[in-house]
Amino acid sequence: MDKSVFITTLDHECIEIKIRDPKKWNLEHLKDEVEYITNIMGPHQLYYSYGKEIHSLESIETSVENPLELVENNTIPIKRFLISLRSRVYPVYVSNFENKYLLCLKLAIEKKLGCLGMDCPFDAQTLRLENREIPAKCCLSNLPNNARIELELNSFIPQRPEITTYAIDEEDNRPKEPRLVLVCQGSKIFTKIDERAAKWRQVGKGLTIHCYCRNRKCEARNRAVVANLGFGVFNLDTLNSKALCPICSEECQEFLSIGFYCATWKFKGVLKENNVFGEEKTYNKYRVWREVNDEWKCLKFSVRPFTN
Ligand SMILES: [Zn+2]
Repeated sequence: MDKSVFITTLDHECIEIKIRDPKKWNLEHLKDEVEYITNIMGPHQLYYSYGKEIHSLESIETSVENPLELVENNTIPIKRFLISLRSRVYPVYVSNFENKYLLCLKLAIEKKLGCLGMDCPFDAQTLRLENREIPAKCCLSNLPNNARIELELNSFIPQRPEITTYAIDEEDNRPKEPRLVLVCQGSKIFTKIDERAAKWRQVGKGLTIHCYCRNRKCEARNRAVVANLGFGVFNLDTLNSKALCPICSEECQEFLSIGFYCATWKFKGVLKENNVFGEEKTYNKYRVWREVNDEWKCLKFSVRPFTN
């Protein structure tokens, strides 16, 4: 049965990708399809929903009104390989390839072809470039970009040890971040660490909106609160529905200012008949985006975590 994913980007209103095969209901396959339409290379595609990055399509429901948000990060160095298997060619990417060896490419091939429904264990692969086997100690930076590599699968599937993978930078051990809150003094807006400040003024990473909660039942009613929208693609016209009170999760009213923290953002819009676009970033300083007060005909942001 067909299943659709709806996606929005800074440049596209809504792209619909139909996925027919349930085995291909995964991000790797989706990235290939999206690359074909948008020319944004797979490893440069980051997907967000409700301000947070998503890593899997499981339990994701999208619609025209509520699409998945694609943010491009084209600052990651990547190398593309054309893997040829049984007279078909599959593009496979390795990001941050400089200090990686052939094993990383084999693992990338296993993952990529696995997502297309093919069993292709790394230890059953032999890779050949111009009819010569590539040695295991070959560093990926020594292989040309877009190299056409022949993949041969050994007919026996070796006994595989159980491999447990884990990410070292898992969240658990991370120290709790201090409570950073928004402070307004006249026209000056900045953040400071204040453990005793009101909990509705806490600033998170990404896009934030300073606005009022008017929900009568909320502890923060009639207070200026900070709605943390996080990362993703945002349209000025529909920002209201995403600016939720941090206490009661109801829509907030009367925007006072918008700002960014620990983020890189692109913006694109029409101002006085002119097309305007740009890219900006801020790391540990809260940046109020005063340009929002100009008379925009339309305005969109694509916000991702801060990168150098
Ligand atoms: Zn509220």
